[in-house]
Amino acid sequence: METISIIDAKKHVNEKVKIGVWLTNKRSSGKIAFLQLRDGTAFFQGVVVKSNVSAETFALAKEARQEESMYVTGEIHEDTRSHFGYEIEIESIEPVGASQDYPISPKEHGVDFLMDHRHLWLRSKKQFAIMKIRSEVIRATYEFFHQEGFVKFDAPILTGSAPEGTTELFHTEYFDKDAYLSQSGQLYEEAGAMAFGKVFSFGPTFRAEKSKTRRHLIEFWMIEPEMAFMHQEQSLEIQERYIAFLVQKVLDNCQYDLKLLGRDPKVLQRYTELPYPRISYDEAIELLQKAGDFPDVKWGEDFGSPEETYLAEHFSKPVFVLNYPKAIKPFYMKPHPTREDVVICADLLAPEGYGEIIGGSERATDPAYLEAQIEKAGLDKADYQWYLDLRRYGSVPHSGFGLGLERAVTWITGEDHIREAIPFPRLLNRIYP
Ligand code: ATP
Ligand code: MG
Ligand code: MG
Ligand code: MG
Repeated sequence: METISIIDAKKHVNEKVKIGVWLTNKRSSGKIAFLQLRDGTAFFQGVVVKSNVSAETFALAKEARQEESMYVTGEIHEDTRSHFGYEIEIESIEPVGASQDYPISPKEHGVDFLMDHRHLWLRSKKQFAIMKIRSEVIRATYEFFHQEGFVKFDAPILTGSAPEGTTELFHTEYFDKDAYLSQSGQLYEEAGAMAFGKVFSFGPTFRAEKSKTRRHLIEFWMIEPEMAFMHQEQSLEIQERYIAFLVQKVLDNCQYDLKLLGRDPKVLQRYTELPYPRISYDEAIELLQKAGDFPDVKWGEDFGSPEETYLAEHFSKPVFVLNYPKAIKPFYMKPHPTREDVVICADLLAPEGYGEIIGGSERATDPAYLEAQIEKAGLDKADYQWYLDLRRYGSVPHSGFGLGLERAVTWITGEDHIREAIPFPRLLNRIYP
């Protein structure tokens, strides 16, 4: 008899198998017990019929406690009523680890309570499905960039300077110097692009976001590709192919997880259709002004969540908003060739209210321009000499972008809060567990 995982049940229909499981819930009468089981690969039901098993086995089934671990042995049958499609008719139970009173019962709990028990809450169905999709998005990211000829090139997490503005910065000590936790690996990725042509990084990013929103984590994971000899138009093509690829891989490989979440695959399928619309920041402002619901919107300001939601809903697809005002974007973006006031950049806004999932741009190539920008931004020039070297020795047109992993996962899974898209979220008032 084979020991298998629940996910492989379909290969063992009408065979006798053994599975290591946890009990998530149970229902029983005098004659039959239904055990809801999970093993980390899937959830399914075990059925224990009193007349078919020993008195001892039936007693174990009836008395088993939530989250108790055990080996169950029995035959796999089809079960067309469940999401999973199979169940096990249990013949014997071998207890492994006892369980105390489990704090999370199937009834509703408040978010704070669940967050305090995140280490246990992660065992639940919805959390399971989201983490599986997160894992698939990461796997597909590596597949996509490797097949496109990118080199994985990691940026440091401890840095001596901060390109994205200083208010959201985490400060720490680096022996006798100041250091900061990375807010973006981008400048280092540019060095990578000059050495390897096409690179991408994937790593944690830290921002001391002072406001509570459904889209901001304090610690999140970012994928940052950077490409040499590449203008913004080609970068946008890579971005949309990458996003469509991620969505398609989730559709192909995470059907069970989408079912557990109740996420409609037809909605996701639409996001695999390319190209995504492109509008300029100027056009976006016009659209918002015409809509009438945004009286405060004026040229020169960044969009908030309601504006981003409106723009992507307007197209019911992800939409690129191009060429934002220079004054609200970081120093390294390429100035527009014919306009003083905007830079060559784009944000990709996701539909259904998820907002910006990608921020990207073509990078400035002229060392004198960059040096002036660094000064204007109030940054210490000494910290950026290495960065200016990238322009002093064979500067080339280059572009790149950053995708927030958890933003993308929240959108693909249809969740309403980003805290669900990472195992242990760091939020404004939370660093436990
Ligand atoms: P936002 O406007 O939503 O605050 P941003 O413009 O500050 O985002 P960028 O600096 O452009 O963000 O970072 C690139 C990507 O990283 C964003 O498009 C988003 O997907 C993600 N991101 C940014 N901040 C956060 C955060 N606090 N939590 C999770 N993801 C984030
Ligand atoms: Mg921000
Ligand atoms: Mg933004
Ligand atoms: Mg941005």
